Amino acid sequence: MMIRKGEIGVSTSNIFPIIKKFLYSDHEIFVREIVSNAVDATQKMKTLADVGDYQGELGDLNIRIAIDKEKKTLTISDRGIGMTAEEVDKYINQIALSSANDFLDQYKENANAIIGHFGLGFYSSFMVSKRVEIITKSYRDEAPAVKWACDGSPEFTMEEVEKTDRGTDIVLHIDEEHEEYLEEAKIEALLNKYCKFLPVPIVFGKKKEWNEGKMVETGEDNVINHTEPLWKKQPATLKDEDYLQFYRDLYPHSFMEEPMFWIHLNVDYPFHLTGILYFPKIKSNLDLQRDKIQLYCNQVFVTDSVEGIVPEFLTLLHGVIDSPDIPLNVSRSYLQSDNNVKKISNHITKKVADKLEELFKKERTLYEEKWESLKLFVEYGMLTEERFVERAMKFALLKNSEGDYFTLEEYKTLVGTSQENKEGELVFLYTDNPEEQHAPVSAAKEKGYDVLLMDGQLDVHWMGLLERKREKTRFVRVDSDTVEHLIEKGEKAKVELTDEQQETLGEAVKAVLPSIEKTEFSVEFKALGEQGIPVQITRNEFSRRMKEMAAMQQMAFYGEMPHMCQVVLNVDDPRLKAWIAENENVAKEEVVEKAKNDDRLKQMIDLALLSSGMLKGEALSDFVKRNFETI
Ligand code: ADP
Repeated sequence: MMIRKGEIGVSTSNIFPIIKKFLYSDHEIFVREIVSNAVDATQKMKTLADVGDYQGELGDLNIRIAIDKEKKTLTISDRGIGMTAEEVDKYINQIALSSANDFLDQYKENANAIIGHFGLGFYSSFMVSKRVEIITKSYRDEAPAVKWACDGSPEFTMEEVEKTDRGTDIVLHIDEEHEEYLEEAKIEALLNKYCKFLPVPIVFGKKKEWNEGKMVETGEDNVINHTEPLWKKQPATLKDEDYLQFYRDLYPHSFMEEPMFWIHLNVDYPFHLTGILYFPKIKSNLDLQRDKIQLYCNQVFVTDSVEGIVPEFLTLLHGVIDSPDIPLNVSRSYLQSDNNVKKISNHITKKVADKLEELFKKERTLYEEKWESLKLFVEYGMLTEERFVERAMKFALLKNSEGDYFTLEEYKTLVGTSQENKEGELVFLYTDNPEEQHAPVSAAKEKGYDVLLMDGQLDVHWMGLLERKREKTRFVRVDSDTVEHLIEKGEKAKVELTDEQQETLGEAVKAVLPSIEKTEFSVEFKALGEQGIPVQITRNEFSRRMKEMAAMQQMAFYGEMPHMCQVVLNVDDPRLKAWIAENENVAKEEVVEKAKNDDRLKQMIDLALLSSGMLKGEALSDFVKRNFETI
């Protein structure tokens, strides 16, 4: 019996083609929408039974998905509350379809805003179907079953049909363009993506197994999902192995190392949030780790890009976040200004800091062992998230060249008096390559200084941050000056050379220096005492760091800048003293000419270059040859 024929209250005569076009990149979300509706209807049924408003048998509540290749249909069946004819009219004809129309009006101008829109609901089925039918019977005994059908134009039909069982079948007549949705593998993949943790069992065909070299169906239902995902359980009831197993379930196809530790999130007020965040081992490549967090809304998968929802550095964590309080039908930029999102994001940042601080306080040795895999994450967090800086100052570690770890405060105490300069600044000495900088590192150590190891990807930026955040603290690389001047304690010993002499001798030194690609030298004279190193190469901290930072940010201009190096001559060295005396009052050209044939000067300069790893190529061959000849 025909109940009624009608026209959906839409102003645009045929809005389906428009919606289809706009939503082309995200057609597959219809699976999530239709199955979520079935889950909702099932859960309502359970609630009715729980509160005693339904006295009958609940029976099997599984949701079943079936493909009929001949009829070209995909059917989603539930045994939920179902709908009466009045309800179909109200929820589907009036609300669902007219809200789809509103939605279209709103987003007409902005196709991008539609992509990824959540909550298209039942209507999204039309993105892949030329006809959709709803066959539904309400849990109310007296109500007859109804069949609603619509072919994508604003007209629909509704008629009474025979259906013995309570619940709803949604039958999608898949259109020609979308026949991929009739492939078992495709549907299984989509169910795994969107429905893996839904709270009601989702059955897709029968389980299969190998039998005599063939895959055959068994009698057992193929349940796609885990209805009680780990993040919904009480942390106290869970063991480490449960968390590790869940991690493997989350990323079944990747070869990721085991996570180091995790946080179980569970908030009820002032927003709802559950989830588990894992700390992966991060050693070098930041980008490889990104976008592994899955966002759920009441156990329905929404996205695996949480950018804009959590602070940037937290996108390096892995795991799941589940919250019905994150608005999903808005643009990313709007998300960032949403109050709930802000609260959630602050909460997560705080929990991450709490976890690290707790581990640091309670299990320092373990924490130190994990530091190498944690350092990049902590530094990145400090560099990008203001809220994290203050907290992390307590558990960020410095490692010295002996392999010992210190907090910033501990290190300050350690080097306190001996590494304070005359301005009252604490000078933290560091090396980023103990092999190449062996000579200045050992010179600094001999002088009683401590040397930090700063060879991490973000260390240059991080040191800059610490210098800004901590008063009177400076980081200085061991080779940025002569050991005598790394930490300036008093007045510099005066160099008794006139400007003219310095210029002449400087020219002479430059004439002897081999030319090194992208490197420029300046010559400096210092009084370092008779025992001081005669000639050495230093690299000014400031200009070197500028260049390094620029190179990291791929700023071509600075990156192309030459390395600026200083050749430092110790005027107190007896050999150099003699050379200076020889050249007093001699014309510049003559001094330069003579220097070119001065083997002793050449030898001293080459040794300085060799010591800083700069003697290479032809200059190195010449040096070796010359030295063999003297043996
Ligand atoms: P939403 O789910 O956001 O409310 P939908 O367009 O998906 O919007 O669905 C509209 C309404 O139709 C639902 O709120 C629900 O009342 C009803 N509905 C949809 N699917 C089912 C179903 N499988 N069983 C019972 N009612 C359903």
